[in-house]
Amino acid sequence: MFQAFLIKYAEIAIKGKNRNLFEDALVRQVRRALKSVEGSFLVEKTRGRVNVTAEGDFDYDGALDALKKVFGITAICPVVVLEDNGFEKLAEDTVSYISKVYKDRNFTFKINARRARKNYPMESMEINASLGEKLLNAFPELKVDVHSPEVMINVEIREKIYLYSIVIPGAGGMPTGTGGKAMLLLSGGIDSPAAGYRIAKRGVVLNAVYFHAPPYTSERAKQKVVDLAKIISAYSGTIWLHVVNFTEIQKYIYEKCPHEELTIIMRRYMMRIAERLALENDCMALVTGESIGQVASQTMASLMVTNEVVEKLPVFRPFIGSDKQEIVELSKEIGSYETSILPFEDCCTIWVAKHPVTKPSPERIRKHERFLSDEIDRMMETAIKNREVIKAEV
Ligand code: ATP
Ligand code: MG
Repeated sequence: MFQAFLIKYAEIAIKGKNRNLFEDALVRQVRRALKSVEGSFLVEKTRGRVNVTAEGDFDYDGALDALKKVFGITAICPVVVLEDNGFEKLAEDTVSYISKVYKDRNFTFKINARRARKNYPMESMEINASLGEKLLNAFPELKVDVHSPEVMINVEIREKIYLYSIVIPGAGGMPTGTGGKAMLLLSGGIDSPAAGYRIAKRGVVLNAVYFHAPPYTSERAKQKVVDLAKIISAYSGTIWLHVVNFTEIQKYIYEKCPHEELTIIMRRYMMRIAERLALENDCMALVTGESIGQVASQTMASLMVTNEVVEKLPVFRPFIGSDKQEIVELSKEIGSYETSILPFEDCCTIWVAKHPVTKPSPERIRKHERFLSDEIDRMMETAIKNREVIKAEV
């Protein structure tokens, strides 16, 4: 029964010249999201909103699901489009709309009529009153509340008549492409995909890097990360995923450095490589799923030592103050959880020490890294040069 969607966004956030940028990016992202949905859609911006009109038959649930993933949208209203065949027909159609959409009609309502076409023979106030009366006659259980109605029945009179009352919450945030680009350190865990989602929500385009260690980590573990990147790309748009072979570096650190410092030193090399890739790809920040105290490598002291090797870019850690349970909830909401918990080995867990340091000393770590000397630089260059780049998109 619905042939269109009215897309609402928070206007207050975007005053002045940014408004056009915001709206154009939103229209682009809505078109992208609908590309894989069955049907043909006209997407256009009008004052303060975006209208999506289906041309002919389309997959309603698919379209709604796709729209729910577009950042920048605060609400999605499914719209019934009516021909203007006079007020009596409009009243009849509205009654039939209410009976179809609301099985339980114990609610308060208000009619909100707007005339974009001024030659319509009734004024808005008159439409409100007359249509309200028709509904009350048809459904005695309804009540009017003009101050805070439970259901606002919107009637917009343009060339055709647009009727809508359902308001579905959107993803919020800013449209992808309005916030620059960042490099996500994406592992197969729960935290990093959700961290990427959080940053992408602010309009940031994502690139990602995954460190894998074949043959210690399997092809399936890598595929899991590709799948996670795809899940996030349904929200963020295409993610270019850089898969870096970390085996040689990891083994070399294991050979040369104290084992309780292995994880920290490894993480420092991940950060160094990630920053190099970020700068080469015009990214303005690194993103990780770290959270204070979650594991030994995420104590304040460990974070400080990991962070100090990043020279130019800020490191965004959207979950720094989150509990695991909160991250789990978000990952369930966005649909990455089920994939994240698949049991494949992680390159960090293969050689973990029994008692990793929780208070690493920066001086000691730096000293031990000197054991790695020039060899490690050559290994880093090789790893970067030989990386595989995968396009993750839905
Ligand atoms: P996650 O659930 O995101 O895997 P975690 O709780 O397992 O996080 P760590 O393994 O300590 O925590 O990793 C901390 C962060 O470092 C991750 O959130 C991710 O951003 C990054 N990271 C860890 N391992 C890798 C990897 N193999 N490739 C890319 N990034 C990684
Ligand atoms: Mg992990």
